[in-house]
Order: sequence, then C-alpha cells, then structure tokens
Amino acid sequence: MAIPAYKSPEDPGLWEAFLERLEKTLRVAAIHPTTVEYLTHPKRLVTVSLPVVMDDGKVRVFQGYRVVHDIARGPAKGGVRIHPKVTLGQTAGLAAWMTLKAAVYDLPFGGAAGGIAADPRLLSRRELERLVRRYTAELVNLIGPDIDILGPDLGTDQQVMAWIMDTYSMTVGSTVPGVVTGKPHALGGSEGRDDAAGLGVALVLKELARRRGLSLEGARVAVQGFGQVGGSFALHAEGMGLKVVAVSMARGAMYQEEGLEVAEVLRHYEATGELPRYDLAPEELFALDVDYLVLAALEGALNGDTAKAVRAQVVLEAANFGLTPEGEAYLLGKGVLVVPDLLTGGGGLLASYLEWVQDLNMFFWSEEEVRQSFAKSVAKAVAEVCDRAEFLSTDLRTGAMALALERVNEATRLRGVYP
Ligand code: NAD
Repeated sequence: MAIPAYKSPEDPGLWEAFLERLEKTLRVAAIHPTTVEYLTHPKRLVTVSLPVVMDDGKVRVFQGYRVVHDIARGPAKGGVRIHPKVTLGQTAGLAAWMTLKAAVYDLPFGGAAGGIAADPRLLSRRELERLVRRYTAELVNLIGPDIDILGPDLGTDQQVMAWIMDTYSMTVGSTVPGVVTGKPHALGGSEGRDDAAGLGVALVLKELARRRGLSLEGARVAVQGFGQVGGSFALHAEGMGLKVVAVSMARGAMYQEEGLEVAEVLRHYEATGELPRYDLAPEELFALDVDYLVLAALEGALNGDTAKAVRAQVVLEAANFGLTPEGEAYLLGKGVLVVPDLLTGGGGLLASYLEWVQDLNMFFWSEEEVRQSFAKSVAKAVAEVCDRAEFLSTDLRTGAMALALERVNEATRLRGVYP
C-alpha cells in the first residue's frame, strides 16, 4: 500500500505516529481495507502563501496549511494553530487525529487541521489580523459550516476566530457564525466554551475514577502546561478535591508540597503571563511523586527517554500526541494507566460541536443546559472507550481508536465510493 509521507526535518512526526497507532489498532479491530485506504490518504492538503504588509511597510510571505483528512461522518472540523514549527506533516497528523476524536465522541464531524508557520508573539496585533484575514481569504472556497469548520488551537484565541468569521462573512455576503467555533459570545459563541477543554479533562478523570475505583480526594496531581487547558483543568481538579502540587510552563515549574492555591496562580498567570515562581526545571515535573500526571503542553512531551522518569500511576494526555508511541509503550509496560488524548482531549471538540449546533439554529442555550449536555457526552465517551478496551483486552488508546475506526468504517461503507 502506498501511503503518502510528509516528514520534513523539523516535523515532529505526527502523521507517522498516527500511522503507527493505526497499524497497532488494525491488529484488534476489523476495519475494511477501503476505509484504511481512505484514512491513509488525507482528502485534501492545501498549502498557501500568505503575503502580509508588515507595520514597517515591507511585505513578508508566511506559509499556511489546511488539511481535511476524512469527511465520512460529516463536515470537517479542526483547529488553526499559529506557531513557528507548524508543518504540513504535523497538520496532517492533527487532522487525522480530529477524525478519530470526533468519532470517539460520536460527533457528526470529519477531521481537519490548519496552521500558519509564524510566531504570534513577534507580530503586532494589526500584523496578526492581516495574516489571519489573508489565510481565511485564501481558503474561503474550501471552508464553511457544511464543509470545513475552523476553531482555536495553540496561538489562536477568540479574537482570531472573530477575524476569521468576519472575513468569511464579508466575502460570501452574509453573516455566517458557524464557519468557526471558539468565537466570542457576542458573535454566536457558546456559553461554557472558555474552560471546556480543561473541564473535559477533569470530567474524564472523574468518570474514569468512578469506573476504575480510583481515589480523587486528596490525590496529588502535576500538570505540565499551564495554558488554557492546563489552567482550567487545575482549577476544576482542585474543585474535585485533588491536590495540585505542581504546574509548569516552558520556562519552568512551580511546586508546592501541600498543594497550590490554583485560583491565585491563575490570577498571577493571567496578569503577567508567568507563574509566581519557578521551583523546578520543566522536565523535573515528570519525576514528582504524584498520583496523576496531566500533559497539557505540546506533542511529544513523554518520549522513550522522558517517560522513564514518570512516577505517577495514571497519565492523562490532554495535549494531542502528548506521548510518543515509544513513551506510551514504556509506560504501558510498567503498568501505568494511560488515558489517551482521543478521550481526555475531547472537551474542546465537544464544546465546538455544541456551539456549531446553536449557530446553525440561531438558538442559544443557557450555561446550565450546555454544561449538562457536555457532562453527559463525556460520561458516554468514557464508558464506550472503557467498554471497547475491556472487550478487546487492550489499552485505552487502542480501545478508543478501535471504537473510532469502527464508526468511520461504518460511515464509509454506507456512503460507498463515488462515482
Ligand atoms: P496554551 O498555549 O494556552 O498553553 C500551553 C502551555 O504549555 C503554556 O503555558 C506553555 O508555556 C506550556 N509549555 C510549552 N512547552 C512546555 C514545556 N516544555 N514544559 C512545560 N510547559 C510547556 O495552549 P492550550 O490551548 O492550553 O493547549 C495545550 C494543548 O492542548 C495543545 O497541545 C493543544 O493542541 C491541545 N488542545 C487544546 C484545546 C483547546 O481547546 N484549547 C483543545 C484540544 C487540545
């Protein structure tokens, strides 16, 4: 079988990690070769050059990408990342992951991902706006609420989503909130969206603890990555009775044996973009004596080397591809419970789905209604993944992948091959 390869020297190998895990799952799940053929060939890969007039009057051209991986189960859905290390291969891997994540949560979406290779911290707000608007304009015929729906990821926020929505709407001639999720509330954003990704991680942990008899009250947790996901997870975890003993950023980690005051640390982080102090090097967080370790930073945090330091008995992967296949194999070999990103990191996508449904109907729910629906869907996903893993006598990732692939397989079979 000829499988496209996208690996460039600076590529973190996410597409290859997807293929490796696909191969592992195919040993236990009966997936038709036609579905495998579809999944190993992304539906659409787009590379765009984005000229931007910088504040000094010079023109700089950035590279942008949008990959639609598979649309068997619905319109494509995926985030937009603005980061210096964005590559086509990374984008393809993230898009494939979205196909599977949507299927794990049984959402009517296919998978997509996009990005721009740029460092948003080095751009002025006006430069960033011009870059994002040009990216949207280049893709305008390929995106839309029924085609491909964009959303936030690393380096993009509500304002960026607002610019995408406005650029798309101005070009097509009508206001179309459903082309992006993660928008400000004033533009059709959903209640309860802001902390959904972190809340999703916390609810997955709660459900899993209930099913597997794990103790949460007073349990010690360390969180790698104190951003949108890690920060809100830490707050919810504290509310659930866990003791958050350490959180980290790229610069270092903050550690407090008796537990951090998460709200206080968050206030400091929101005001300054920094932790109040740095007690440890970032990677020292992995070696702490904790019950739960949460990965909420970037892909590849735990690889074959860094995983050796881990002392936690449960690792929750909130960041996409937080573990490399080697890092995961090591931890599984040591009997660590690895809760995969396809399950743990589904909160953002689930909230996006609830936002998109509201936008399509132009009818908006209260925060309580959103939260209820959200919690029910998380509990269902946890139960279905655990059941599948137990039935196949396998780990949770392979269980989650088998569940997702079976759903994509069924949709692919029913749709058939056009023409
Ligand atoms: P963010 O930029 O808000 O936060 C990332 C944090 O990780 C930052 O605090 C950064 O300093 C830290 N970090 C980076 N390198 C680190 C290192 N080596 N050690 C320790 N910390 C490090 O990003 P986010 O939105 O919270 O996303 C985190 C991860 O979750 C990403 O992988 C993203 O793709 C994924 N994710 C996000 C969402 C969402 O809705 N925001 C949804 C699903 C998945």
